[in-house]
Amino acid sequence: MIIAIDGFSSTGKSTVAKRLAQALQFIYVDTGAMYRMVALVAIREGWVQDGYLDEAALVNHLPNISLDFQRGPQGENLAVLNGEVVEADIRTMEVNRIVSRVSSIPAVRRQLVAQQQRMGQGQSLVMDGRDIGTVVFPQAELKIFMTADSDIRAARRLAELRTKGDASVTLEEVRSNLLQRDAQDQGRLDSPLLQAEDARILDNSHITPDEVFHRALAWANEVLAP
Ligand code: C5P
Repeated sequence: MIIAIDGFSSTGKSTVAKRLAQALQFIYVDTGAMYRMVALVAIREGWVQDGYLDEAALVNHLPNISLDFQRGPQGENLAVLNGEVVEADIRTMEVNRIVSRVSSIPAVRRQLVAQQQRMGQGQSLVMDGRDIGTVVFPQAELKIFMTADSDIRAARRLAELRTKGDASVTLEEVRSNLLQRDAQDQGRLDSPLLQAEDARILDNSHITPDEVFHRALAWANEVLAP
């Protein structure tokens, strides 16, 4: 069984996806982390300069990029790039600024979508992203599309960045980055962010994470045991 959770940036997709996966004993796959790892490679290799991305260099380098996940000591999901845990490095504003540009490159999407589809072979999973219900697993048994008010999303994301030690970032910077990423994700030609016709909408503006989880779990149980 596949549960696809798509939606705008910082709408709480990964929070509910992780809890659902734990409750149902499914594998959780954070596809945003995969695009973030590719963006991190571009930054580390010096292919991002003044907002310009050397797309050709990155695409040539794709066969050398290996993306994986492992469990941390508290059972948390850790992103692993070429054998190195990069969980903290991929959650910075520097990566936020370039990741939607990186994810608009068709060759990047092809490679990552193929890997995501392989992950779904023979095992049940909860996968979150932007194109899971539309492109990666259009046959997913349950599709959820998450939204939330942009001011609320920005405040939540700022708090998260502050917890991770980024004291310099401002609310306005976070808010404009979210809106810019949403616009880029919706506007790209290759598999844009789109609500699947058969997706159930979950607006996370004014409900608690517990309520979000219980609503999603009830939908999953409906599908598992109709
Ligand atoms: O989910 P998260 O905010 O970590 O995703 C980071 C970026 O990766 C998104 O803004 C989007 O550009 C890209 N992405 C994508 N397709 C996915 C998941 C993420 O294009 N399935």
